[in-house]
Amino acid sequence: MSEKKKLVSIVSPAYNEDVNIPLMVEEVKKSLLPLSDKYDFEYIIVNDGSWDNSWEVICEENKKDSRVKGINFSRNFGHQMALTAGLDRAKGDVVIYCDSDLQQPPSLFPKMLKLWEDGVKVVHTRRTFTDGEGTSKKLLSKLFYKFINLLSDTEIKEGFADFKLLDKEVLEKVKSMREHNRFLRGMVPWLGFKSAILEYKAGKRLHGTPWYNFSRNLEFAKTGIMSFSIKPLKYIGYFGVFLTIGSIAILFLGAVISFIKGALYFSPTFYLLVFNTLLNGLMMSALGIVALYISYIYQEVINRPLYLISDVVE
Ligand code: UDP
Ligand code: MG
Repeated sequence: MSEKKKLVSIVSPAYNEDVNIPLMVEEVKKSLLPLSDKYDFEYIIVNDGSWDNSWEVICEENKKDSRVKGINFSRNFGHQMALTAGLDRAKGDVVIYCDSDLQQPPSLFPKMLKLWEDGVKVVHTRRTFTDGEGTSKKLLSKLFYKFINLLSDTEIKEGFADFKLLDKEVLEKVKSMREHNRFLRGMVPWLGFKSAILEYKAGKRLHGTPWYNFSRNLEFAKTGIMSFSIKPLKYIGYFGVFLTIGSIAILFLGAVISFIKGALYFSPTFYLLVFNTLLNGLMMSALGIVALYISYIYQEVINRPLYLISDVVE
């Protein structure tokens, strides 16, 4: 008797993807067929409140092949929540998640699984180039990541999207992170574990329109920054401290020079201005201190695991 087959869970969120879903199912099957002696698979598609026929299409695919499974949201909860729901229900020894618009090619799955077989717990993918994407979008994406990384504590690299493989063990850790403001592409790197990076060339979105536009990207960036960094708050505090020290120095300098010269060196209005700046500086420093406390409370509230162990030898 041959060794028991491993189960691979594929998870993808879908929002108005009724044309893409059957193509995705086809692609997923095609990519895993050569590995069918080693792996069984389940393909979980999460319908995130689509207003097209995505759910009907998922049900149809499930009737044709019960390895295709569907989760239907009551309304649109967003990409990150849809992914989370799928990951929560994945039963595999290993899980791969990707978009359902074929931009993240299932043909990469065998390579990802090979790395996993070799002992890697997380496979990140990096998009090197998207066919048919305008230069403005590329520039925007560059700026987006520059901005995030300027403010974020965990580096979130460009081209690293929600297309990854996770070992079951890592998946369990992701499941244990129940924060509401979810930014999976930051959470998974935060976890650590032995990882590898695969590069791929993203294709064009075949059907439908992309969900992310400038304002949604900005919103997403905000979540990324807020859940991974207190830098914006710290910077305000630093600025306050800078203003305070600067104002005190100027006031002190003014007083010393006035004392030596025996007359007011700066005009009274100037002193008033500097004094006002001093007060503002103190206020901002105080804000920074409050922010620090808030960030401590925030850390407690999101209640992430304190540490993650990957191996123990005893
Ligand atoms: N998606 C989702 N819920 C949403 C928006 C998008 O589940 O509210 C899914 C969508 O179906 C796709 C993935 O998230 O599978 C990524 O979305 P999209 O392709 O529009 O983004 P882009 O590739 O432009 O970043
Ligand atoms: Mg897409």
